[in-house]
Amino acid sequence: MIPSADSKEAIQIHIDLDLPHILNKFYGGPSKANAVNDEYCYTLLKRAADFFSENEVKVVFFVITQDLKLGRYAELLKELYFNGHEIASHSHTHPYFKGNVSRAHIEEEVGRSYEEIKVFFGAPPTGYRSPGFFLNDQMLQSLIDAGYKYDSSLFYSPFIGLLDLGAKLRGVSTGHRRQRPIDWDNLKSKTFKEFPLPSCLGLPFYHNLNLYFPRPFKDLMLYLGSRSGYSPYLFHIIEFADPEEDGCLLPSSVLKHPNVQTPLKQKIHFAKAMLRGLKKGRVNMLTKDCI
Ligand SMILES: [Zn+2]
Repeated sequence: MIPSADSKEAIQIHIDLDLPHILNKFYGGPSKANAVNDEYCYTLLKRAADFFSENEVKVVFFVITQDLKLGRYAELLKELYFNGHEIASHSHTHPYFKGNVSRAHIEEEVGRSYEEIKVFFGAPPTGYRSPGFFLNDQMLQSLIDAGYKYDSSLFYSPFIGLLDLGAKLRGVSTGHRRQRPIDWDNLKSKTFKEFPLPSCLGLPFYHNLNLYFPRPFKDLMLYLGSRSGYSPYLFHIIEFADPEEDGCLLPSSVLKHPNVQTPLKQKIHFAKAMLRGLKKGRVNMLTKDCI
């Protein structure tokens, strides 16, 4: 049985901090576009933080800890942490694990990330989300051994093949979303929790996919979101890119990422409507407080 917490009336908001240089790597863009731009990373994070603040929600920021070396970006994250948001791990370097990845590599990624958060923020993370939603028994045991208390990487959809096909058409290699069957009853910890990504009509319910849908379907997602309060609700930092303002700051490889070229105003409008519906009659909570 999946060790999930009973937090039906809580709305947890998550955001994965996959910065443009990480997505450029994902789309196989040129390595010079991989150059890290602290100022732009700060701008994206600031936009996201301002949006959450205006909409009065506390959020879990899933940080890729190698990016804590960025000055302004990392300082803003620290400020957000001290303002009551939660910091969780999204690995150290965001590798796309596939197939037979070694236990040592997994342990290095989750263990190093745990330590970096502990040193930088003064407290260790409670939660983790795996890059590309990679999840197997080894990963879960490594998380428990490192000291994490929950994972939020599990998701299942009968349409996974279609989602992979969509990724393939955008030039992304497939297979990273496959999740091995997990022996939940055999985990070494009895208190470790899993917060799966919710699904709706067989599809994972997360922001960028909802944003991708055409109008009537989008409205249906807004309605269902307000009825059922799907949680955790997942954003990605790239959803705060502004195609008009940001121009050449966005690596060209990243322009093919879904919704990157949608005007920011339009994206914010939909995000606001979704949050309003999700919050209706429910309490916004941090995931670490739901275990
Ligand atoms: Zn990611």
